[in-house]
Amino acid sequence: MSINIAVYRSIIEELEGKATLVAVSKIKPVEDIQAMYNLGQRDFGENYVQELVDKEARLPKDIQWHFIGHLQSNKVKYIAPFVHLIHGVDSFNLLKEINKQAAKNNRIIDCLLQVHIAQEETKFGFSENELNELKGIDELKNIHIVGLMGMASFSEDEQKVRNEFKQLKSIFDTLSIQHSAFSILSMGMSGDYKMAIEEGSNMVRIGSLLFGARI
Ligand SMILES: *Cc1c(COP(=O)(O)O)cnc(C)c1O
Repeated sequence: MSINIAVYRSIIEELEGKATLVAVSKIKPVEDIQAMYNLGQRDFGENYVQELVDKEARLPKDIQWHFIGHLQSNKVKYIAPFVHLIHGVDSFNLLKEINKQAAKNNRIIDCLLQVHIAQEETKFGFSENELNELKGIDELKNIHIVGLMGMASFSEDEQKVRNEFKQLKSIFDTLSIQHSAFSILSMGMSGDYKMAIEEGSNMVRIGSLLFGARI
């Protein structure tokens, strides 16, 4: 077992009353997830559909599974029966597919829209302008858009990262006025979660600090 219990406890204490911890367990074995579950953790994040489906079948049913990776439309059906929150929704077509699969399962699935805040080219997500133009969302009755998710640049430049978080928080605040269901701002990972919380995050996704580095 390789989870870091002391770090887990200190992060839980640090986040108390400020942010929800999603423990990112991608690539890590079910034994590690079970060990953290035994400490009281219930929210876990995964990036790969097949891996998530396998783990869900083998672990306790009261785990709340967060899908945090890039989701392909043709794979939504595999996670729709049980997924708790989909973080990285980055297109209207994907929203429509999630809505369709949620309906088939008689569910309403909570989603976060991914916003492109990093200056790097590779990050997925909506731009601020695209978010303002999202029409027709209210007609999708089986999804519930509860907030935004973003990833800052992988950068040593703290000011740059902080500015990206500030930008996302400001978009979140603006959209919250129009969308009363908005309550979750998912930003911050192992390397930048402290700063993310200072800038208004209320959900952090932490992997390597808790489970050790991924190979
Ligand atoms: C892997 C991943 C994380 C966790 O990253 P760490 O640096 O290990 O904490 C968080 N968010 C997303 C979207 C990820 O893919």
